[in-house]
Amino acid sequence: MFIRIAVPVPQLNLLTYRVPDGMPRPVVGSRVIVPLGSRIVTGIVVDQEAGSEAAGRDVKPVRQVLDNEAFVPADVVALATWTAEYYAAGPGEVITAVLPPKTRGSRADAHKTMRVAAITAAGLEALQADPLSLTAKQRDALELLAGAPLGIPTPGLADRGFASDTISRLAKRGFVSLRQDRVDRDPFAAQTFEAASVAPDRRLTPEQTHALERLMALADRGQFHVALLHGVTGSGKTELYLRLASAVRARGRTALLLVPEIALTPAVASLLRRVFDERVAIQHSGLSDGERHDQWHRIRCGDIDVVVGTRSAVFAPLAGIGLVIVDEEHDASYKQEESPRYNGRDVAIVRAQHADALVILGSATPSMESYYNAMSGKYERVVLERRVLDRPLAAVTIVDMREEYVAAGPEAILSRVLTEAIQARLDRQEQSLVLLNRRGFATAVFCRQCAGTIDCPNCSVSLVVHGEGSTRRARCHYCNHSVRVPGKCPLCAGPYLEQTGFGTERVEAEVKRLCPGARVARLDSDAIRRKGALGALLSRFRDGEIDVLVGTQMIAKGHDFPRVTLVGVISADVGLGLADFRASERTFQLLTQVAGRAGRGEQPGQAIVQTLYPAHYSVQLACRQDYAAFYERELHFRRTMRYPPLLSLINVIVRSRTFAGAMDDAADVGKRLRDTNGDFCVLGPAPAPLGKLRGEYRAQLLIKGTSRRRMREALMSVIADRPGLARRTVVDVDPLSVL
Ligand code: ADP
Ligand code: ZN
Repeated sequence: MFIRIAVPVPQLNLLTYRVPDGMPRPVVGSRVIVPLGSRIVTGIVVDQEAGSEAAGRDVKPVRQVLDNEAFVPADVVALATWTAEYYAAGPGEVITAVLPPKTRGSRADAHKTMRVAAITAAGLEALQADPLSLTAKQRDALELLAGAPLGIPTPGLADRGFASDTISRLAKRGFVSLRQDRVDRDPFAAQTFEAASVAPDRRLTPEQTHALERLMALADRGQFHVALLHGVTGSGKTELYLRLASAVRARGRTALLLVPEIALTPAVASLLRRVFDERVAIQHSGLSDGERHDQWHRIRCGDIDVVVGTRSAVFAPLAGIGLVIVDEEHDASYKQEESPRYNGRDVAIVRAQHADALVILGSATPSMESYYNAMSGKYERVVLERRVLDRPLAAVTIVDMREEYVAAGPEAILSRVLTEAIQARLDRQEQSLVLLNRRGFATAVFCRQCAGTIDCPNCSVSLVVHGEGSTRRARCHYCNHSVRVPGKCPLCAGPYLEQTGFGTERVEAEVKRLCPGARVARLDSDAIRRKGALGALLSRFRDGEIDVLVGTQMIAKGHDFPRVTLVGVISADVGLGLADFRASERTFQLLTQVAGRAGRGEQPGQAIVQTLYPAHYSVQLACRQDYAAFYERELHFRRTMRYPPLLSLINVIVRSRTFAGAMDDAADVGKRLRDTNGDFCVLGPAPAPLGKLRGEYRAQLLIKGTSRRRMREALMSVIADRPGLARRTVVDVDPLSVL
């Protein structure tokens, strides 16, 4: 009797083991202990009956079965298997995502304490000065730790594919320190963040009532169905989610609510808690492992009616799902940018399909894919066209920065219009948000003598300057390599080094300079590294202790701050110059969303959008909040250029130590793919837009076609034909970005 199991080890396929005579056959989803090479590991049973082809071969026996019933529910195992196959990832990587942290082989007492690894000074030095003394894996681990000064719990490292022996080897060399931390169990206990206003028996607007009736009717059918809730920003979608979730509970079923950002979970969770009390669980990677572990078990035991979380919550062990909500369904953070490269929204739809549940995709700016499906009748479209209480959408002013440079000089960052508008808000004690989708102080250091820039030695990008004065450093946004900004050019020794380009740190400094007395803060991934920093910043803003919040797209999402009456966008076109087919869609979504953050309270809102391309359709139509026109225009482009949603894409990156090696291997893959004469086309190879990353060269192929399955199968068999190639190849099915 043979079974197939998944072990939480990256790159590994399903493994076959023998169930010794006398041992009961373990059920799907139960944990088994098996030998793997010289190790002993815990795996999850995926298939109770491996084919008889295993017979005769030397198949190792299962050592022990840990559970009589499924530990991971069978439907979640099936979902994980589907995800692994669809996204061409190893089952090991996906199974890791569905397990609670503790069972990943950490200590038995992980209940109350956990092991935390932090980089040491020696580790930092090795990383900077002698990276070749490290294996690629060790280097990656140290780079990750270098970005987390307080350390990372070892199960969190395991999550990212760093096995405990990698870490203990680093610890032996003195590059990593290990300590035990106490675990804080209740994610609600530490919560400092208060939810937005909620009146328990508030009356719905006529539009909300209508939409709710429609959605209730769909939920009542108890069948799989997808509804696209297309509601402008501030139209009260959250209110509908709450009511639907309670209606579904009244019928004895559960609900899963996905949000794009960890930052949005506390607000939604506390709204849900008012309705569902203790029966709400949170699942996201910002929780400590202990918290995650406890929440996971409460869900698994059936103590929970609603789970709210970020993309990985789609694998929560929740039974009896009747409703799946994906809020801000267009958001790029639903896509995991490392293996398994799944899109949480799409996996959520599959989960709902298996559970005969209703899916609600909510957005003010639906993705091209979802709107296309709504237009073709595959999804039902439910619309909210007005803001609640008929609050007007923000009035949008476009500032042409080319004119501004002529009038105010080429150094201008904040236009005069925007500066005055911020000042007016300060006078009236209202709040402003200022968005720039670029971190750092200056985006490059440029030598006036040789025109060189300070580039990353490992990646084909220039280093970004962070900080001012003595804390100033130039850092790579991909591999985290950093250097002190030199006094003279490292290439020609010229003395005239200039900083060019600007990021959020510089904007923060500019606002402070132009508006003395204003209380200014910054919200981007650099500012919230410390655990709890994000919640603290958001609640200070909500409490009115901050006048102007400068930030990246993090400030554009979902938040409901009634006292914000002004939103300034510094460079609306940050993404537009990029050779990515989604550049216009992203720009449109970002501008529409950020404008939607203004005027959500009593006072009407204003948005000021600075751009070098005032005539670009994504800028123009976002300012008019004209989604339908944008969709038509963009669909025409996608159709002409043969891009999704009209076709499917697989992005393939081949990595190698040399440029020629990467290009040759990619060319070989391309040729073999073309030789299969499949009904798809293969573009490339070309050097990838990010041609070098972490010391490796990268070549790219793009496969376009109508059948993902045929594209994927052809690709996987070509890759499998070349020993060693799989490890160096990144396969991204349905890529969100091809950069
Ligand atoms: P969306 O998610 O569509 O952008 P929200 O659900 O955040 O919008 O709602 C915007 C604001 O309107 C919130 O402050 C919410 O509490 C409030 N709101 C929602 N529905 C109503 C209603 N029927 N009457 C009054 N206020 C409402
Ligand atoms: Zn780098």
